[in-house]
Amino acid sequence: MTKKSKIIMWIVIGVVAVALIGILLSDAFGAEEILFSELLTLLKKGEVEKLYVDGYNWQATLVDGTMVTVEGGPSIYDYMSFSMFMNDVGLSVDKLSAIDIQFADPNAGSIWSSLMPLLGIILVAVVFWLIMRSAAGAGNANMNIGKSKAQVQSNLKVRFSDVAGAEEEKEELAEVVEFLKNPKKFSNLGARIPSGVLLVGPPGTGKTLFAKAVAGEAGVPFFSVSGSDFVEMYVGVGAKRVRDLFDMAKKNQPCIIFVDEIDAVGRRRGAGLGGGHDEREQTLNQILVQMDGFEANDGIIVMAATNREDILDPALLRPGRFDRRINVNLPDVKGREQILKVHARNKPMAADVNFKTVARITAGFSGAELANLLNEAAILAARANKKLIGNLELYDGINKVLMGPQKKSRVVTESDKRCTAYHEAGHAVLACLCKHCDPVHEVSIIPRGRAAGYTMTRPETDDNDVSYNKLIDNICMSLGGRVAEELVIQDVTTGASADLQHVSELARRMVTQWGMSDKLGLVAYDSDQPVFMGMEYGNQSRGGYSQETAATIDSEIRRLIQEAHERAVKLLKENRAVLDNMSRVLVEKETIYTEEVAMLMKGADYKEVIAFMDEKEDVHKTNPFVNMTKPSKEHIVSDETESEEKSEEKTEE
Ligand code: ADP
Ligand code: MG
Ligand code: ZN
Repeated sequence: MTKKSKIIMWIVIGVVAVALIGILLSDAFGAEEILFSELLTLLKKGEVEKLYVDGYNWQATLVDGTMVTVEGGPSIYDYMSFSMFMNDVGLSVDKLSAIDIQFADPNAGSIWSSLMPLLGIILVAVVFWLIMRSAAGAGNANMNIGKSKAQVQSNLKVRFSDVAGAEEEKEELAEVVEFLKNPKKFSNLGARIPSGVLLVGPPGTGKTLFAKAVAGEAGVPFFSVSGSDFVEMYVGVGAKRVRDLFDMAKKNQPCIIFVDEIDAVGRRRGAGLGGGHDEREQTLNQILVQMDGFEANDGIIVMAATNREDILDPALLRPGRFDRRINVNLPDVKGREQILKVHARNKPMAADVNFKTVARITAGFSGAELANLLNEAAILAARANKKLIGNLELYDGINKVLMGPQKKSRVVTESDKRCTAYHEAGHAVLACLCKHCDPVHEVSIIPRGRAAGYTMTRPETDDNDVSYNKLIDNICMSLGGRVAEELVIQDVTTGASADLQHVSELARRMVTQWGMSDKLGLVAYDSDQPVFMGMEYGNQSRGGYSQETAATIDSEIRRLIQEAHERAVKLLKENRAVLDNMSRVLVEKETIYTEEVAMLMKGADYKEVIAFMDEKEDVHKTNPFVNMTKPSKEHIVSDETESEEKSEEKTEE
């Protein structure tokens, strides 16, 4: 502690002490509160020694020495005189004269009452100033810079070691760090330094984290804005903000400017449907102008993040602007394991937790989702009053991140339950019967998130290649729910809407993208790119094919689904007994796993399976990862209910 801050500390202690003494000395402190009617009773009884009145404030000292303040008294100014008031309340003058009455605050003359407000103000000011100072000292004062809306952080504590499992990206960014640490070294050799680095990747992959880590490693200030901050109602504000931001940055070189979600301003110009020169465009132009204005040895690096590179204006990607592009991808198995370890650093984990296993079964999870999963697990462990986070919590955490929390409290009628059970059993039975489907891992009719139930399968290997046969089987299995409803309930519900969407999407891509239809041949009719407003607007046929081709595409999609549907009906009819048994077990037990599914497929009776489950009941609880490989996002048939979507819409209204 410096000498100066020590002095300040003593001043603060002094001021607080003085203020406390002042409060203690003031009569109001510690006084008992009574009602006005009680005061009148006391007055009549002659138990009041002194009375102070100031406006609405009534205070009294009783004969026995206690002090009271009065609540709900009228204003004395409502009466012409005090004695008139006393008459009003029925007290005689002689009783009055026995009381020492003062018309004003009893403390009015005391030095404390005049000093108190002043001391209060000083106290508040000092405390405020101290907070500001210590925050600035810690280096994380998030202050608004001028009107730029940017946040500045210096001395960021984030390091590359906090970003796990992205070695290639780290290597590329290490260069940027090097440059920020010593810009002269590069410019003396005539090296052109990248002025812009674009981080491209899906949400939650650590783009923001990376940008911060670069600033942290280089020890430079970090100016951050979000693209959407620039999008304002008033034309010109965004451009001005950009100017302010860059001016500010220039005064603080070397530094990093980070523009998150740059797609909000960096969209292709001229793509908007209405009017060319909108606010967004001016803002984008201003960013380009500023970046072009960098001198070779300016120590400013602009980093930007986006998950929609396809809609960015090509001008942003030209040399001298965002000419360095770094893809930040979803982590692979090893990456996931490392991310889990990073986030488990400050969490007590049970000894039998194996991050390799958890990493293996969380294919498709982003870094943010993995962090979230550990957090959910920690919350679950805390709720169960456990000291350590175990496998069970991790398993539930995965399911929660994948599909939202279980909704055990949702009211499900018996007939709904039976319907969902048949639906899920339909998926599960077909998944077992279709040779190319992955093995079933978990079937449940417990509602989760927006799903009424789900069937989870797990591939046996790590490869992600999909073959024609696998896709066809997947379509067949996805139709299983609907088909089971057709066969058993002899009516269909809206529960299959998500399945039908999934099936149509798969079939469409098989035909138009993957060349899997003989009639259409090996031609890609559609790219994966989402249609962007305006860009292709007006082109009559988007993919550049004729009306006839469009009709053929439609009929091919229809044929694929039709064939799969027929196969599903046939298979489920042949295995009706298994379907019935499985749905009865589901109604009874709500969730079944690999073993039970295998038993049922071999023809076990539902009673047998239920008895088996009753016996082993807790095996799953102790080690849920037993026999498990990798259920991934793509392998869950989660059944969203139509009715719930509607009720959600209602709440939004
Ligand atoms: P993005 O900006 O790409 O959407 P963020 O950087 O905001 O993602 O990541 C959100 C959170 O996810 C981070 O704060 C961090 O906790 C976690 N995270 C994401 N990727 C990683 C990673 N590679 N290593 C460690 N944590 C990560
Ligand atoms: Mg981000
Ligand atoms: Zn379904």
